[in-house]
Amino acid sequence: MTALAKIVHTAPEIDAEPDLTDGFHLVIDALKLNGIETIYGVPGIPITDLGRMAQAAGMRVVSFRHEQHAGNAAAIAGFLTQKPGICLTVSAPGFLNGLTALANATTNCFPMILISGSSEREIVDLQQGDYEEMDQLAIAKPLCKAAFRVLHAADIGIGVARAIRAACSGRPGGVYLDLPAKLFSQVMEAEAGQKSLVKVIDPAPAQRPAPDAIARALDVLKSARRPLIVLGKGAAYAQADDAIRALVETSGIPYVPMSMAKGLLPDTHPLSAGAARSTALKDSDVVLLVGARLNWLLSHGKGKSWGEPGSTKFIQIDIEPREMDSNVEIVAPVVGDIASCVQALLDGMGQGWQQPPADWIDTLKTKREANFAKMAPKLMSNASPMTFHAALGALRTIVKERPDAILVNEGANTLDLARGIIDMYQPRKRLDVGTWGIMGIGMGFAVAAAIETGKPVLCVEGDSAFGFSGMEVETICRYGLPVCIVVFNNNGIYRGTDSDPTGRDPGTTVFVKDSRYDKMMEAFGGDGYHVTSPDELTRAVNAAMDSGRPSLVNAVIDPAAGSESGNIGSLNPQSGIKKKV
Ligand code: ADP
Ligand code: MG
Repeated sequence: MTALAKIVHTAPEIDAEPDLTDGFHLVIDALKLNGIETIYGVPGIPITDLGRMAQAAGMRVVSFRHEQHAGNAAAIAGFLTQKPGICLTVSAPGFLNGLTALANATTNCFPMILISGSSEREIVDLQQGDYEEMDQLAIAKPLCKAAFRVLHAADIGIGVARAIRAACSGRPGGVYLDLPAKLFSQVMEAEAGQKSLVKVIDPAPAQRPAPDAIARALDVLKSARRPLIVLGKGAAYAQADDAIRALVETSGIPYVPMSMAKGLLPDTHPLSAGAARSTALKDSDVVLLVGARLNWLLSHGKGKSWGEPGSTKFIQIDIEPREMDSNVEIVAPVVGDIASCVQALLDGMGQGWQQPPADWIDTLKTKREANFAKMAPKLMSNASPMTFHAALGALRTIVKERPDAILVNEGANTLDLARGIIDMYQPRKRLDVGTWGIMGIGMGFAVAAAIETGKPVLCVEGDSAFGFSGMEVETICRYGLPVCIVVFNNNGIYRGTDSDPTGRDPGTTVFVKDSRYDKMMEAFGGDGYHVTSPDELTRAVNAAMDSGRPSLVNAVIDPAAGSESGNIGSLNPQSGIKKKV
């Protein structure tokens, strides 16, 4: 170093130059300050460097092949952790791909933040044709719980804080955060930047129920002859597992778990009426809903799944006051967070609580046992090709032996039958198609489940469902995740037997016959298995799960075994004209 250089280097005016930060670093610092350590996304303009820098700053950045799956991963990360899952996408098309997952997260009440880069406001607003021009904020708004845009680096801290609070507080949901490209390179003094960050204090504050609401609910519950508790995925999300178990056991009231609430108490619990669901809903006189909406999945609380109109009284625990009376009258609304509400009910039950009449418990027990007996032979068949029941019978045993594995499940018949057949033993171990019943959540959920929990993941996928996110097997292999995918391969959607009446093309619901999905996994270095009987299936899945390696089991199912639309065929409109297609 020359003397001159040294003088210049130590000259006071240069020493006084402040440390700088920029938009990139402030976004990362804001997320980290709030305990967010993982980003799911797809890199590209203008957020490629954001991902790189986040990784360099110690965050886990999981890159997918398509934004929808990154978004689904973020959404289920939110469900599993109560912290908003982050999905990072490029502008316009990437943003739109992520939007499906954002809307789905909002519908399912999962906290998630979709952060999208966007094009320059000046050009977008004058519609002058920028690269990937789109008014993303306006498009996102009706599809999520809240949407924000940050234009100045100094507002990144408050913007991220608003997004986190909006996602987690009250009824959780999806939030959109729009970050125009120019924001990332905006520079400000590092110290001022640091001060501009906000650590969100108590992002989901307890919301205690009013004492008179609890007293009213207990009065209704006491009057019941045939009471029932319905546990929904809100109850699973709330992580109030001990209190919920205590509520069921102290009250002695049988319960039915909604699909993602399975395992909150083990499905084998003596008070589980899951296997007597129809009788439980139809014959109950008082139903306590805990984090479950009376939407289509519960036949809107009326109609033929339920007793005579007016014969069932509903008590509902929900954090969202507007959920009350959404379909039928709620005679005892209990508004608050589930942990507080359940605890308040328990406290109110006190010493003198009367267990429900024994004949009600016996009715459900008898029904449950009859249903088991009817089902048992179907689960034990070792025929080849396999039926859905026989294949699921094998997987049922595997899940029983590996209760801490996470089960991801989607499909039509594969979903409906697995939900009933595979018992769950621990909370938040069953992740599925949720409120919309959508296909395509599989690989996104699997990746996030493995990353967030460190537990093995078993995906039970219809061949159609798997196709929506199948390319993400590369992601699973790239990150070396302990995910075992079982594809129920029946050559098509619902069944693999349809044909084109004109004879020109394949039928609209069939796929290439005898496809080998296992080869897809092998293509990226994972393990493939091809099985045709329940015994082979059992051996393959056990080997795959013992190995902890990415694996795919192609399970050949009888192409004629499925039913149209699974259990919801009644929702499928039929032509009013008699002529048969
Ligand atoms: P399911 O499909 O299992 O029936 P839903 O998604 O229909 O479940 O219902 C979940 C409900 O749980 C939503 O109405 C939501 O507002 C509510 N919820 C979510 N988290 C909480 C919480 N911590 N406390 C109270 N209610 C909650
Ligand atoms: Mg199929």
